[in-house]
Amino acid sequence: MQATTSLIHQIPSDPLTGAISVPIYQTSTFVQSAPGVNQGYDYSRTNNPTRATLESLVAHLEKGQTGIAFASGLAAIDAVLKTLKSGDEIVAVDDIYGGAYRLFSKVYEKFGIKVHYVNCSDTEALAAAITPSTKLIWIETPTNPTLKITDIRAVASIAKAHSCRLCVDNTFATPALQEPLSLGADLVIHSATKYLGGHSDLIAGLVVTRDAELGAEIKFYQNAGGAILGPFDSWLVIRGIETLHLRMQQHGNSAQRVAEYLSEHPAVDQCFYPGLPHHPGHDIAKAQSKGFGGMVSFRLKEDHTTAVDALLQKLQLFQLAESLGGIKSLVAHPARMTHASMPAAVRQAHGVSDGLLRLSIGLEDATDLIQDLDNALSQTSYIDLNTWKTKNSKSVSLDLV
Ligand SMILES: *Cc1c(COP(=O)(O)O)cnc(C)c1O
Repeated sequence: MQATTSLIHQIPSDPLTGAISVPIYQTSTFVQSAPGVNQGYDYSRTNNPTRATLESLVAHLEKGQTGIAFASGLAAIDAVLKTLKSGDEIVAVDDIYGGAYRLFSKVYEKFGIKVHYVNCSDTEALAAAITPSTKLIWIETPTNPTLKITDIRAVASIAKAHSCRLCVDNTFATPALQEPLSLGADLVIHSATKYLGGHSDLIAGLVVTRDAELGAEIKFYQNAGGAILGPFDSWLVIRGIETLHLRMQQHGNSAQRVAEYLSEHPAVDQCFYPGLPHHPGHDIAKAQSKGFGGMVSFRLKEDHTTAVDALLQKLQLFQLAESLGGIKSLVAHPARMTHASMPAAVRQAHGVSDGLLRLSIGLEDATDLIQDLDNALSQTSYIDLNTWKTKNSKSVSLDLV
């Protein structure tokens, strides 16, 4: 059976009433027939039927044993870090999500957990950073915002050889495109705020574990810490997941067209998208994923904020906002938004220069999105687009891209 069919039929109808949509059990507690005698639920922090449906659904999607739902992606990351103790070390991808960096460096380092940041596209550098105290390897692939690719299978075997766990933040790819647990990872986390929710209307996080024992441990931290996902938001994530495969296909198709357009544009210095054949991680991405996702970044030749601001003013379909993975296309300027807290020199070293923009390609028609970019790029003063169009045989003519 194909993934979409099995996903859709994994979602149960209500055994009590036959309701085809999962009921929202908006309750804090459950009546017991005698002390300690209940129908499997006693208090909604510990367990809730709507949340439990989401948790088993995401475990099914990621091909893991246990799913655990949290109030945000960061709460999910926090629960994974609670499996460590003082003196343990983490090796993490250097262009890690900013919020994860803040949690690692400003909270957990205080409790004696040391983090080494390395370029994980370079598996030798990653292996060299491992010490006998390393207990966790933390990767994202593709990364944010320069969309670097890490070979999950290779990193999983390094983790295994050093008896440490591998956690993959699968937010950008989603299980519709990439299944890290099948490639050897021990844990997957998600900001379900992004593609799994899919409609920019909630904040949620998920952990999925490959084995049940680790799942029980994380579930213990979920209940002990209490940063659970509420019943209504659990229902919204289920509703989002129902169309995940369809949406990811469309996001990916449009992103590929936008990336091909941008990579040929004379005002663009470089376009970052794993679906472009010249992307350094293209072959690995192709081998480990079913698609390249909906995120595209590009650097303007005029690598400064003035050029960025001129462009942002002209864009009409792309909304300026943080976050990603929704139906509306978004544009972000990492240097002043997602990566503003990073020192400028560190930012530059990671390729997050002032002229870099990040796009979350939504579900509008790709032709309209390209038209919007074309319109904005052509109105900025620093290129002579007409000269370029007549010289270049692969013109930006919209029926060609
Ligand atoms: C947004 C995001 C997070 C954090 O998730 P929240 O739901 O905002 O807490 C973690 N990792 C990645 C890759 C993200 O994009």
